[in-house]
Amino acid sequence: MQQKRITVAYGDGIGPEIMEATLEILQAAGAPLAYDVIEVGESVYRRGILSGIPPEAWDVIRANKVLLKGPITTPQGGGYKSLNVTIRKALGLFANVRQTKSYAPFVASFHPGMDLVIIRENEEDLYAGIEYQQTPEAIEALKLVSRPGTERIIRFAFEYARAYGRRKVTCMTKDNILKHTDGLFHRIFNEVAAEYPDIASDHQIIDIGAARLAAQPERFDVIVTLNLYGDILSDIAAQIAGSVGLAGSANVGMEMAMFEAVHGSAPDIAGKGVANPSGLLVAATQMLVHLGEAEVATTIMNAWLTTLEDGIHTADIYREGLSRREVGTEGFTQAVIERL
Ligand code: NAD
Repeated sequence: MQQKRITVAYGDGIGPEIMEATLEILQAAGAPLAYDVIEVGESVYRRGILSGIPPEAWDVIRANKVLLKGPITTPQGGGYKSLNVTIRKALGLFANVRQTKSYAPFVASFHPGMDLVIIRENEEDLYAGIEYQQTPEAIEALKLVSRPGTERIIRFAFEYARAYGRRKVTCMTKDNILKHTDGLFHRIFNEVAAEYPDIASDHQIIDIGAARLAAQPERFDVIVTLNLYGDILSDIAAQIAGSVGLAGSANVGMEMAMFEAVHGSAPDIAGKGVANPSGLLVAATQMLVHLGEAEVATTIMNAWLTTLEDGIHTADIYREGLSRREVGTEGFTQAVIERL
């Protein structure tokens, strides 16, 4: 079988542990992948490279088009740039896709019926990076919303809904106050929604929408929103599902894509062999679907779900009375492999 070549970055903190676990499972499942490993993060920052990524790594990422990345510890202050923001911008990864799902009754969750996807615009809005001191008393940040950027993300959300059999797309903005920027996003949402009569659509003002999401997340299916709102909403969603450690995320562009876990580098547990590799594993299955390998992705997801159902849990999701066996990273990895 022809192998697909991807780029792998192990990352910092628990990154190497969960990446090794993920690659072991991919290999055991027969995923037809070959890897080029690049170095990113702390060790690169320490060499004085403020972006956290060495120049030669870009050629590898661009040639392979798909990057599987472990979490990175972002150094504080000192002119360092967030590696994630740099990668998203440099590769034109305009869509961030995060599925948040409850795995109740096997994993404790406040909202057992929850299964939603947040699609966040990734390049514009207040994160366009245009922030400056206007006068000694005032600092300004530019909120950028363009028609092409908005059309692209909203169309992506409807196409995603169609491809994954989802029924409804909800747009969230604050256009009662930000009439021009958020107003444009809402208007374009209505225009694009009209092209997808098979998918229900609605719009909610972000503040009340966020409150509803926190109280009744099971009422949402796909949510599409601007960069900053999406950043906040996706963390709320992951938290209330009780599954921050189980969620993966995809950053997708026209040509390139990056897949990673939702959580960070967890320095408090790094090197202890207790990290849950699930977030990165779920991201890796999203990557397999992206690469046209949906069958292997399904095999892995089923083995992973069976492991959770069998109560074989890492410390972060272990609950007395609900779980059956507490395992470390390696024990969890072997349990998934046994169920492939
Ligand atoms: P974090 O997600 O790393 O950790 C939060 C808590 O969750 C910690 O108690 C940690 O032990 C636990 N946790 C996280 N992932 C886990 C896993 N897989 N298994 C078991 N427990 C897990 O968030 P933080 O502490 O705020 O950030 C640490 C570093 O990660 C910071 O430098 C931050 O900038 C960085 N970060 C990177 C990314 C990324 O690279 N995509 C994302 C978020 C944060």
